[in-house]
Amino acid sequence: MAGHDVIVVGLGAMGASACWQLAQRGASVLGIDRFHPPHAHGSTHGDTRITRLACGEGPHYTPFAERSHEIWRSLEERTGRSLLRQNGILIVAGAGKIAPSHGVPQFLEATVEAARAWRIDHEILAGGEIARRFPAFGVTDGDRAYHDRLGGYVRPEACIDAQLGEARALGAELRMNETVLSFRQVPGAVEVTTTAGTWRAAQLILAAGPWLPRFLEPALARQFGVTRQVLYWFRARSPADHAAFAPERFPVFIWQPSGVEGVFYGFPAVGSFEEGVKIATEGHDVVDPDTVDRTVSPHEIEAMSGTFGRFLPGLSADCVKARVCLYTEVNAARFILDRLPGHDRIIVASPCSGHGFKHSGGVGEALAQMAMGETRIVLGRHVVDMAPFAFRPGDPPWQA
Ligand SMILES: Cc1cc2nc3c(=O)[nH]c(=O)nc-3n(C[C@H](O)[C@H](O)[C@H](O)COP(=O)(O)OP(=O)(O)OC[C@H]3O[C@@H](n4cnc5c(N)ncnc54)[C@H](O)[C@@H]3O)c2cc1C
Repeated sequence: MAGHDVIVVGLGAMGASACWQLAQRGASVLGIDRFHPPHAHGSTHGDTRITRLACGEGPHYTPFAERSHEIWRSLEERTGRSLLRQNGILIVAGAGKIAPSHGVPQFLEATVEAARAWRIDHEILAGGEIARRFPAFGVTDGDRAYHDRLGGYVRPEACIDAQLGEARALGAELRMNETVLSFRQVPGAVEVTTTAGTWRAAQLILAAGPWLPRFLEPALARQFGVTRQVLYWFRARSPADHAAFAPERFPVFIWQPSGVEGVFYGFPAVGSFEEGVKIATEGHDVVDPDTVDRTVSPHEIEAMSGTFGRFLPGLSADCVKARVCLYTEVNAARFILDRLPGHDRIIVASPCSGHGFKHSGGVGEALAQMAMGETRIVLGRHVVDMAPFAFRPGDPPWQA
């Protein structure tokens, strides 16, 4: 049976990045995916993902985001594709009662703390100043905002496609439309059985996104929850209103409005007037990735527009597109990047919890280092402490 250095299961955001990083290190890589990435069945579709260096989820995420920016820029140079746009980020919080974002009650304050810890240049803006600088936002007097110019958005499908292309060019073997059925660690190797055969390698990276929990024993699987998320594209009220959402004038944003159930976020217009402007909130329905309802009902569209549309007065209620996507969540919006307990040849990569994409370039590099047996994980100028990303087998099950 032919052997590889590393098998990567799942070629989405994390797997594609790991394959390219491994191939750059001269490893022989076999990547396997049940679909043909980039695709719209998992967690990595919908045109854009927010990127930000000051992470309200915790300052330990910043090295991954910073390294990812370097990686996207180098990938842009190699491929001539446009992947990262740093048009700025605005984190807005209303006065009074606000909903937590990614489990963090005061996301704005936590973001400011992270920015201070990493000396990221930023500004704090009050309602009037937000409205003056960014007139498309319907802020009120009590609103406050964090703003920096390093945040922006990344193009997820293009990043996956570019990394898989680069990996293939360096000799990685990529098997698409092939489903992994099982794996086992045997003395000196791992064996992976798919719908097409059995493959062998020294190390295995499991990056199966929302399908990951089904590979784990129940006690660990319970620490993950797969939830249904919806992305909406609403048309602006007029072409002139659409122009106000151009990336030069309209940063990416995360907004905790007061008195509203939930947080919403959005992006500048990356397409024509007809293609609309993307906004979303976060859902909590637990689903199975194979049976999830992928249609978006008129009721959902109406609720989204009615609840959040009013904060962007230039948007109409005309929804031109809506897509279902999946989060794989862990308590406290954590990432898991660790060896499977009891298995020194199997690495589990589940850095999602709704905020993983921006980190995926750096995550792939960390995974490659782990699979190559390096114990000191180095991302650009950072030596990374991986402890926050470890399995905690005694932790309670995931709770929405
Ligand atoms: C609506 C939405 C909005 C988001 N917004 C942001 C954002 O603004 N900023 C941000 O940083 N992050 C964001 N995220 C999170 C980010 O997109 C995810 O963390 C990231 O895409 C997860 O990538 P992944 O590689 O783990 O999963 P995926 O990209 O889904 O990859 C998993 C792959 O595994 C394959 N696979 C599964 N099972 C098997 C099997 N048995 N055999 C073979 N292959 C298999 C699948 O086909 C798939 O290709 C968002 C996520 C969603 C859903």
